Amino acid sequence: MAGIYLHIPFCKQRCSYCDFHFSTQYTTYKQALILAMCNEIQLRKTEVIEGIDTIYFGGGTPSLLNKEELGLLLESIHKIGTINTQPEITLEVNPEDCTKQKLNDWLELGFNRLSIGLQSFMDADLQWMNRSHDAKQAIKAVKDARKAGFKTISVDLIYGLPNLKQKDWLDNLKKALALSPDHISAYCLTVEAKTSLSSWVKTGQVIPLEDELQNQQFNDMVLFLAKNGFEQYEISNFAKNGNYAKHNTAYWQGKKYMGIGPSAHSFDGEKRRWNISNNIAYYKNVGLNETWYKEEVLSIQEQWNEFVLTNLRTKWGINKEKALLFGGINKNELVFITKHLKNDLLIETDETFILSTKGKLYADGIASDLFRVNQLN
Ligand code: SF4
Repeated sequence: MAGIYLHIPFCKQRCSYCDFHFSTQYTTYKQALILAMCNEIQLRKTEVIEGIDTIYFGGGTPSLLNKEELGLLLESIHKIGTINTQPEITLEVNPEDCTKQKLNDWLELGFNRLSIGLQSFMDADLQWMNRSHDAKQAIKAVKDARKAGFKTISVDLIYGLPNLKQKDWLDNLKKALALSPDHISAYCLTVEAKTSLSSWVKTGQVIPLEDELQNQQFNDMVLFLAKNGFEQYEISNFAKNGNYAKHNTAYWQGKKYMGIGPSAHSFDGEKRRWNISNNIAYYKNVGLNETWYKEEVLSIQEQWNEFVLTNLRTKWGINKEKALLFGGINKNELVFITKHLKNDLLIETDETFILSTKGKLYADGIASDLFRVNQLN
């Protein structure tokens, strides 16, 4: 088992762009849901055979849990398997939760990596996103986390906001670098269904930033971060001094992982499993029967499509030797690959095909060219 993911489905408020699974009305059943997650961990102990490399608390907002609640979940994991040496144990946190007390609690519990959702250093943009912190809190959170003793800190940023100017985006990046993070995840704002943002766009209250400007922000970021010693090892992820996110890298490399909690996904090398995205049904059903999840066995062609989609986004690209496990790259795929090489969207090395900087803007399209849609491929 490469990693265990725990989905904490609670948030203080609803960010305008977010379509993750979470609830803002959870206090009455919070305890019951955490106990159900502990129960799910116990029920799945036979899946943990090889020891655990990484544990990732995501959400939602895991930093809303108190020390006892986080401790209970960690204890349940310790009961079902051995944690391998030098594990990566990450907690996703919101800046306003990073009090000195909580930071010390998290260290005491064994978390050794924080992923802090900063998103922006512009108060107007933070308000527009309905984030529950301001720029001052964002800066303080990172500084206090470092002072408390966290050695590995990742920060999240968002670009491509409707009115975000190039210079403001560069300013955000400069402010992030001034905090000396070890890792940066930077995502382009997308309009997801059933969010406030999507209704603003539908009613014309908000006009999304043009693709060209979003692409320019992406290119500016790639150049700026490279100049400052950050390696882009995945399209949206940048690491300093080799501080790759081990947990997410394992997803991209197709390793096994177990997802616990409402809406969490799992992959055991063959089967994909996903838990229901309903907090109350989840905690009532765990342990009673099997209705808290669904699963499907991935066909070889689905496994290939997933391999292409995830690996292409990384600096490791589509490894030619690994492609042999799926029967190798076929004639149709070679035609597309040759075209993308000619258009400077792909780069070929002895072992692999990787996206060029320009190609990273078209990653999904290039991946879908290589998808296998029927057995004849
Ligand atoms: S972005 Fe994070 S904090 Fe905001 S609603 Fe989504 S999960 Fe919650």
